[in-house]
Amino acid sequence: MHDACGVVGISLRDFSASVAKPIYYALHSLQHRGQEAAGISVHDGKGVRVHRGMGLVSEVFGDAQINLLRGPVGIGHVRYPTTGSSCLENSQPLLVKYRDGAIAIAHNGNLVNSQELQKQLEGAGDIFHSTSDTEVIAHLLVRELQRYDLADAIRAVMHRLVGSYSLVFLYGDLVIGVRDPLGIKPLCIGKLENGYMVASESVAVDTLNGRLVRDVQPGEMVTIKSGAISCERLVRAPRPAHCIFEYIYFARPDSILDGRLVYDIRVNIGSILAEEHPADADIVAPIPDSGITLAVGYHQRSGTRYRECLMKNRYVGRTFIMPDQSMRETAVRLKMNTIRPNIEGKKIVLVDDSIVRGTTSRRIVDMVRGAGAKTVHVRIGSPPIIAPCYLGIDMASREELIAAHKTVEGVEAVIDATSLGYVSLEGLVKAIGIPIEHLCTGCLSGMYPVEIPGEECCNSQRRITEFTC
Ligand code: AMP
Repeated sequence: MHDACGVVGISLRDFSASVAKPIYYALHSLQHRGQEAAGISVHDGKGVRVHRGMGLVSEVFGDAQINLLRGPVGIGHVRYPTTGSSCLENSQPLLVKYRDGAIAIAHNGNLVNSQELQKQLEGAGDIFHSTSDTEVIAHLLVRELQRYDLADAIRAVMHRLVGSYSLVFLYGDLVIGVRDPLGIKPLCIGKLENGYMVASESVAVDTLNGRLVRDVQPGEMVTIKSGAISCERLVRAPRPAHCIFEYIYFARPDSILDGRLVYDIRVNIGSILAEEHPADADIVAPIPDSGITLAVGYHQRSGTRYRECLMKNRYVGRTFIMPDQSMRETAVRLKMNTIRPNIEGKKIVLVDDSIVRGTTSRRIVDMVRGAGAKTVHVRIGSPPIIAPCYLGIDMASREELIAAHKTVEGVEAVIDATSLGYVSLEGLVKAIGIPIEHLCTGCLSGMYPVEIPGEECCNSQRRITEFTC
């Protein structure tokens, strides 16, 4: 199971304040990180309550649910759709009751050794209710809490986990944020008028009119108690491995991730794309929405006129949630319409962030040709996606990834583009401004920063194996 999700935790100073509403708004701002399920868990001074449901935040929560979740501290989660694991049991926060109390956990990321850990724990007598790696983390934590204080227990758990995890816990009246030692998935700290928060992206802080303090450091634990914050670096790795796909596609452009505004990065990518793959064209147009900022960069660098050619129906979910190929193709048509007068008789550059299976690009090139384009050059703001993600982006299997099996010319032929150009990995890394050794490029290079069971092509040079306390 792959979890690419959004998490938030808030602790307010005023004990009579209610945290459920701000968490609800924060989850709304993180909705792009997961549309399958949403949940909020709140501590009311006596115990922990949780409400979870399938669907968008607005579908899961109404006034009635929010009013029942009273208390000044809480956490929330939005879950990304993944085929086959779409059920309420896998939604979060996960509430674990044990002898000394209860812990609620929200997790963004994916462990690659969770099956192995689960087997070990089951061998020692633990009983599991799901196959979720979050439950594995919960079991490990409950065990370690019997031996250590909170920080040491979390440190001990971190030493056993391999993979990506940005975690938010509700432990008594504490909100705890933990980022994995490689900082694969994002997590940041925000200051609110009456407390502190941690969240997957800074847009959640903006939404609550807070101030972004900084990113949680890789391997760091952040504790928020009664609206006051303390931080401790629990585990250190020699270097981070931030997920490169967050910058390309996943994070919102108005978020600041590891100190960089995603919008600026995407404009840079578009600009480098224009340098690397110029085209003889009348207009440059984005594939909305993910191509917009890239197309702005392409336009600025190339001088080619920016003109929108496609309009998106914003009320249709992402095509990715459609479980089979024929429904996915219908969904693309439902989602997008052409602006014919902007297209007819023109040479067009279409810009998008990525090609995964190739379905979206093929359909759109088809539509744009059908609307009378003379030529359709496709420009992509990522290098070819050639390998699956095991570390928290639910992308596709290797068999489904079009670029895993075809050359650029092969993909160009399948999507029927006049020409196809992907930004180079070097260009992308330059646009992001983080050294390549500090990024996880697994989906683009097949080289992962941690050992992936069964993945033969991972290059050990890129692996990070030494961790210190
Ligand atoms: P595809 O049709 O499979 O080639 O999908 C490519 C489109 O899906 C691109 O336009 C991206 O904006 C979008 N996309 C890329 N990665 C993901 C992902 N992990 N989840 C959902 N959508 C994605």
